[in-house]
Amino acid sequence: MSIENLARKTVRELTPYMSARRLGGSGDIWLNANESPYVNEYSVNCDRLNRYSTCQPEELINAYSAYAGVDSKYVLTSRGADEGIELLVRAFCEPNQDSILYCPPTYGMYAISAQTFDVATKTVPLTADWQLDLDTIQANLDSVKLVFVCSPNNPTGNLLKRSDIEALLDMTANKAIVVVDEAYIDFCMEESVVELLSRYPNLAILRTLSKAFALAGLRCGFTLANPQIIELLLKVIAPYPVPVPVTDIAVQALSEAGLARTKFQVLDLNANRAYLQAGLSMLPGVTVFDGYGNYLLVQFPDGEKLFSTLWDNGIILRRSPIENCIRISVGNRDECEKTLAFIRQQLEQ
Ligand SMILES: *Cc1c(COP(=O)(O)O)cnc(C)c1O
Repeated sequence: MSIENLARKTVRELTPYMSARRLGGSGDIWLNANESPYVNEYSVNCDRLNRYSTCQPEELINAYSAYAGVDSKYVLTSRGADEGIELLVRAFCEPNQDSILYCPPTYGMYAISAQTFDVATKTVPLTADWQLDLDTIQANLDSVKLVFVCSPNNPTGNLLKRSDIEALLDMTANKAIVVVDEAYIDFCMEESVVELLSRYPNLAILRTLSKAFALAGLRCGFTLANPQIIELLLKVIAPYPVPVPVTDIAVQALSEAGLARTKFQVLDLNANRAYLQAGLSMLPGVTVFDGYGNYLLVQFPDGEKLFSTLWDNGIILRRSPIENCIRISVGNRDECEKTLAFIRQQLEQ
C-alpha cells in the first residue's frame, strides 16, 4: 500500500491553494501577493523564549482591540486571518453535512478550508457590478452555517454595500454566521462594518497585519466577533497559536508610533494606487476597476499574453479568474512606474 493511499480521500483529492509563493517566478518586481513594499524595523526580546506563549496574549489583544475600537472580549488572535477562516469552519460546520457559502470571484481560502474538513461549498457569484446577489443567497441558505464575504473584495477591489451586508445579517439571523473578510480595510478604514458587531451576534470580521501593516511574514491575524463566537473559536484553536516573538513585534506595530507609521504608509500606497490607476486608464483598450485595497484589477485587450510577457521580464503579477484581467499589487513608486512603463510599451507595440 502506498503512503498516498493511507491519506484521507479528501486530502488525496485536494488541490492546495496556489499562493503567489507556490506559483514561483523569478523577477525584480513582485506585485503578485498584495504585500507591502515597506520593510520596517522591530526589536525582538529573547528572554521568554524558553517558556510557552499564552494562548491569547493580553497585551496583543488589548492593543488590537484599541485599534479596532471594540472591547477586548470581541477579539481573537491567530496565525493570520487564514487561521481565523479555518477556526470558523471547524467550530461551526459539521463535516459531510453543513456547508459554507461564498461569492466568487473572491479569495480562494474559504473553499479550501471547507474542503479540507469535508464541508461542502455553495457558490453564489457576485452580480455584474460585483455586489452581493441577495435573492440567490437567500434561496441557497439550506445547510449553510457560514457565509463568507470580502470587502474590499479580493481580487476585484470593490467594497460591498453596507446595506447589503446588513440585509445578509438579517436574513441569516439565528441560522448562519456572516464572516466579513476585512483583510484590506486598513486602506479605507471608514468603510469597516465593525460597528455592526453590537447589533448582530452572527457577525464575524477577519483582520490581518499582513497587508497594510507590512507584516505578511509575521503571520498575525484577528477575528472580531461577539464573545459567544470568540469562546467557541477558543475551543478549537491550538494551545499556543501565537509565538512569543510574534506578539512582541505585533505589539510594536500596534503602538502609537507603529500606528502612525502604518497610517503614513497607507497614505503613500493609496497615492501610488491612484498613480497606477490614472496611468493605466489612459492606455487604449485598458479598463481599471476602482480598487480600495493595495491592489488593482485591470482588464487588458489580451491579458494572458501580457501577463506572460511581464512574467518573462521579471515583473511578477497575479492572474485572475476574470477574463483578460490581471491583479496588480500596489508597490513603491519605483515599482509602479516601471510596471506602468513596461505595460505602456507593450501595448504600444
Ligand atoms: C491576504 C488575505 C487574507 C489572509 O491574510 P493572512 O493574515 O496573511 O492569513 C485573508 N483574506 C483575504 C481576502 C486576503 O487577501
